[in-house]
Amino acid sequence: MTVISQSASGSEALIHLRGLTREYASRAGAVRALDNISLTIERGEWVAVMGPSGSGKSTLVNILGCLDQPTSGSVRIAGTDVHQLSRQELDRFRAETIGFIFQQFHLIPYLTALENILLAQYFHSMTDEDEAQRALASVGLADRASHLPSQLSGGEQQRVCIARALINQPPILLADEPTGNLDAANQEIVQQHLRTLHRAGHTIVMVTHDPEMAALADRTVELHHGRIAAERRVLVQR
Ligand code: ADP
Ligand code: MG
Repeated sequence: MTVISQSASGSEALIHLRGLTREYASRAGAVRALDNISLTIERGEWVAVMGPSGSGKSTLVNILGCLDQPTSGSVRIAGTDVHQLSRQELDRFRAETIGFIFQQFHLIPYLTALENILLAQYFHSMTDEDEAQRALASVGLADRASHLPSQLSGGEQQRVCIARALINQPPILLADEPTGNLDAANQEIVQQHLRTLHRAGHTIVMVTHDPEMAALADRTVELHHGRIAAERRVLVQR
């Protein structure tokens, strides 16, 4: 029997994780990065994932982003059981459904800011230079289009990543410590973008150490040793 959790409106939740376990083989034996995690995230929700270093936050986000697979358990996103998909279908599903913002940016170093965005468009469908330019302008980087990542500050690189993550308008945004490498001013800029995206209806799952960032979310999920140790609804008004 398949049990599907229902949201208040009666439709299935956008993200539905059940019994996720992820083990890594190591010389000292198996490392259990995630240990039987179940989590449901509604469409439009903003969830902050917290917890000490090594508690499994990145592993969770990577599985959610279909970049990694659990050793056991199931991942349903937008009604799709992602493990039923072929490699090709999974790549397509990821390109259409998920945008990524990482702490380490992961921009292609020998492509300009504009080209990094064009590449994301290319993986999704077709490149559209005007649209890519508008995306850069929307993060305040209209005049940095032809800069290489090495010619941009950390804050500017992260804004290119935001433009890249959003260019294909994915419903889900995954951010792994998006402000981890930024100064206070750029942290504020990234926070403003996330707020705007949340208001526009994007579903955001964000790993953060920063209680101020976490306070922007609707809910926090705290991991300890690969398990959910606490879940809290954030009551502070944005
Ligand atoms: P966090 O993001 O919370 O710091 P991670 O999800 O990166 O934690 O890691 C959780 C645990 O899994 C850690 O003990 C880490 O050492 C281990 N781990 C993560 N990735 C790998 C890997 N590729 N191979 C082996 N162990 C890993
Ligand atoms: Mg991590």
